Amino acid sequence: MQYISTRGGMQPASFSDILIGGLAPDGGLVIPEAYPRVSGRELNEWRQSSYRELAHAIISRFVTDIPPADLRRLIDKTYTAKIFRSADITPVKPLLDGVWLLGLSNGPTLAFKDIAMQLLGNLFEYVLARSGDYLNILGATSGDTGSSAEYAMLGKRNIQIFMLSPYQKMSPFQTAQMFSLQEPNIFNIAIRGVFDDCQDIVKAVSNDADFKARYHIGTVNSINWARVVAQVVYYFKGYLAVTQDSSQEVSFAVPSGNFGNICAGHIARQMGLPIRRLILATNENNVLDEFFRTGVYRVRPAEQVVKTSSPSMDISKASNFERFIYDAVDRDPAVVRELWRQVDEQGYFDLAATDYFRTIGRFGFVSGSSSHRDRMETIRRIYRETGAIVDTHTADGLKVGLEYREQGVPLICQETALPAKFEESIEAALGRRPDRPPGYDDIEQHSQRFVVMEADAAAVKDYITRLGQV
Ligand SMILES: *Cc1c(COP(=O)(O)O)cnc(C)c1O
Repeated sequence: MQYISTRGGMQPASFSDILIGGLAPDGGLVIPEAYPRVSGRELNEWRQSSYRELAHAIISRFVTDIPPADLRRLIDKTYTAKIFRSADITPVKPLLDGVWLLGLSNGPTLAFKDIAMQLLGNLFEYVLARSGDYLNILGATSGDTGSSAEYAMLGKRNIQIFMLSPYQKMSPFQTAQMFSLQEPNIFNIAIRGVFDDCQDIVKAVSNDADFKARYHIGTVNSINWARVVAQVVYYFKGYLAVTQDSSQEVSFAVPSGNFGNICAGHIARQMGLPIRRLILATNENNVLDEFFRTGVYRVRPAEQVVKTSSPSMDISKASNFERFIYDAVDRDPAVVRELWRQVDEQGYFDLAATDYFRTIGRFGFVSGSSSHRDRMETIRRIYRETGAIVDTHTADGLKVGLEYREQGVPLICQETALPAKFEESIEAALGRRPDRPPGYDDIEQHSQRFVVMEADAAAVKDYITRLGQV
């Protein structure tokens, strides 16, 4: 399997070559030359497979330059009942009639990002050991991604992680999750400022090509291809859990922000998984819902991004969307280049009048959005009707998913975070706090390890120079 760029300007490369990089050299995103196909017979054969076996069967088609036995070992080490608190890794529970909840948030940080990030940590460590290299990962977080990345890189050899977060602006739970980590390769840097200040510092440091090369600076953001591949697995797992035979179709409801999760669903469908609909749910930041309804993809300036009660979906642009558009324009890199030139110059592109958009239905997407009120009502309704408590992001997915529910087609709604992560919103909806999983009860009392810095890229560089691996 070789990888190319959505903008056509990259020599085909192997998985290990593209694993650690971010954008392709031409500014596009990396994508397989072609998607592997899975037959109905193979699907049926996978019905008895464990999560690990299934993960190996799927991921090995995308990762052809790591010996199968090594890949198997990395996967086996990642997807354990101990790390994901369930032998199923992504357990499926019946919720309402014909509606299932696919639990993706039982990893260490209680959100679905752990599923991909935990594998990424092991893949990074393996590939760095093989090449004798090391990495100083620099990131900015407002909560979810940063903690997931830190837990994935804990104690990994030849990797240090420097995570910037806005000082005293994360919830006490999120802060404790990150700052209580004591491993010497984790560096929490609390910046006096807001999340955008943190992100600006990461950009400034990354734009200093000399510094970046000299200190082996890397990132783990949501455009990382390996993260997308790891997420393909649970679409298969969810499908197999609710069907008896590979002639059946299911639909998935996916709470979406950067289009990383649902991009994996798109790929699973392109591989031949019988997905009827990919139901994309946004919150008030409805960039993607707008596209699927109108054909216009319009990014929002930072000041137009609304702060919502499903904060991990508060986005101004959907960084993985270019991967889908590449397929939607029949894999023509010249068209992709032109569309993103328009985004850069005028802030949007409009496919409404094109055949690409007229035939977009062939990809199975439908969409909707959810407001604060919708998600509060959905949390209450699900609690009333089933006794289950769902988090705010999951509630956005359920709200839109239920609008598209069809008789006779199982609807799999993804649980992308546990409610314990967003206690304040649950309390606002239900008047009670959700239970925390074992081990998280007194997390705020654990001793914390972090430094506080001004919003100053030079100070952060200096810190990496002193403490990074060089
Ligand atoms: C990141 C995140 C999302 C959005 O996923 P994308 O891959 O960005 O579309 C949804 N829910 C939760 C809880 C998240 O952390």
